[in-house]
Amino acid sequence: MPHQALSFETMAVHAGREDLAILGVHALPLDLSSTYPLHDLARGGESLELMAMGGQDKHNPVYSRLYNPTVGRFEEALAQLEGADESVAFASGMAAMTACLLAAKQRVPVSESGASGSAHCARSMGGGHVVAVRPLYGGSDHLIASGMLGLEVSWAEPDGIREALRSDTVLVIAETPANPTLTLLDIESVVVQACGVPVLVDSTFATPVLQNPLKLGATMVLHSATKFIGGHGDVLAGVVATNVEWATELRKVRVITGSVLHPLAAYLLHRGLPTLSLRVRAAQEGAKFIAQKLKDHPGIKEVHYPGLEGGDPKGLVGTQMRGPGSLIAFEVENFDFASTVMGSLELMTPAVSLGSVDTLIQHPAALTHRVVSAESKAHSGIGPGLLRLSVGLENPEDLWADLEQAIVKAMAKVGTHA
Ligand SMILES: *Cc1c(COP(=O)(O)O)cnc(C)c1O
Repeated sequence: MPHQALSFETMAVHAGREDLAILGVHALPLDLSSTYPLHDLARGGESLELMAMGGQDKHNPVYSRLYNPTVGRFEEALAQLEGADESVAFASGMAAMTACLLAAKQRVPVSESGASGSAHCARSMGGGHVVAVRPLYGGSDHLIASGMLGLEVSWAEPDGIREALRSDTVLVIAETPANPTLTLLDIESVVVQACGVPVLVDSTFATPVLQNPLKLGATMVLHSATKFIGGHGDVLAGVVATNVEWATELRKVRVITGSVLHPLAAYLLHRGLPTLSLRVRAAQEGAKFIAQKLKDHPGIKEVHYPGLEGGDPKGLVGTQMRGPGSLIAFEVENFDFASTVMGSLELMTPAVSLGSVDTLIQHPAALTHRVVSAESKAHSGIGPGLLRLSVGLENPEDLWADLEQAIVKAMAKVGTHA
C-alpha cells in the first residue's frame, strides 16, 4: 500500500493490519505465547542470533522477548504514523528512554589510554556525554541527572546546544511541548545546533497527530504511550520511532535488558490508534475553551498554553505543530491554593498521568517532578503554585463548572494576589 500518500486518519485505521486479510481475521490477533515451537534447530539458532543482534525474524520468533507478532503490528503502525522506518515498543516510557540512552552509550568511542596498565585493571569504556534541554518529564530529568547509566550530562538552554557539545557527546535530548510547563522548542533549531549528533525528541504531549519530529530532522521520537496513544488510562507503555540503524540498536538493548512490551498492552494500544486523532482533537477543543476561561479568571495568576495569545512566542503552532494540544499549566497563589483546588474537584480526577479520556489534574512540584533537583525546578518554573491539567473528552462546560467551583473555594480559603 502507498502509505506515504495516505492521510493520517486513514493510516491510523489500517496501519499494521496488512496481514489480517491473509490470516482471514478482521480484529487484531492477540498472541500471548511466551515461546514458539522450533521444528528446525539450526534455523532456530540462526533466528535467535539474528534477533539478539537487534534484527527481526517475524516468521520464527523463538521466544517472546525476541519478537512478538502482536507487538510487531503495533510497532509497524506507529512507525507509519511517525513517518519512520521502524518503531520499537517498550514496557514503559521510562524503559524506552533508558534504552535510548543505553543504545547511545554504545557509540561512545572506547578510549585507548584507559587500556594502559595491567590488563585486568583496565577501564576501557569511555563515559559518554549527553546534552539535554530542561524542562523534561521528571522521570527523564531524574534518570539523566542521576548518572546511573554512566553518561554525563550538560543541561543546555534552547539556543545553547551547540556550545554544550563535546567530542564524546552521543545524544541530544529535548522534549516539546515540555512537561509540565508547555514550553515549545523549535525542533529544526535543535537539530541544526546538534551538528550531526543524533537528536531524541520526547513528543509524548504532541502525539503523531500534532507533530512529527523525524520530518524536522530528529533521529528518534519517543512517546510515553501510557498517555495519549493508550488514551484510556489502562496501559503502561513506551515507543521510539526511528531509522533502521537505531531501531536495531534499540531492539538489541531490549532483548538484553528485557524491557519488552506485553502483547496485551500492544493489542490495546493498536486497538486505540484508529481513534487517536479524534481523541486528540476533541480534547484540544476542550483545552482551548478551558485555557481561555482560566486566563479570564481573577483567581488564576498565569496560564501556560500554546493556544493562547502570547503562549507560543516562537510561532510553532501551525508550523511545527498542527495544534496546541490538550495540556494546560496554570499558576495559582501558593501550595495551599493549589492543594485546595485539587481537593475540591468533583468531576476531574486528581491524578498524575495525562492524555486519558478523563480529565486529570496534578501538582508537578509535589508529584511528577518531585524527584528532580531544586535547581531544575527553579530553572523550569516548577513552583508550589503550578498545576497541570490534562483535558479529557468530557463536555468542556461541565469541566469548567467543576474547576471554577474549586477555584472559588480556594479563593475563599486562601485568598488571591489580587
Ligand atoms: C509519562 C512520561 C514519560 C514516562 O513514561 P512512563 O510510561 O510513565 O514510563 C516520559 N515522557 C513524558 C513527556 C511523559 O509525560
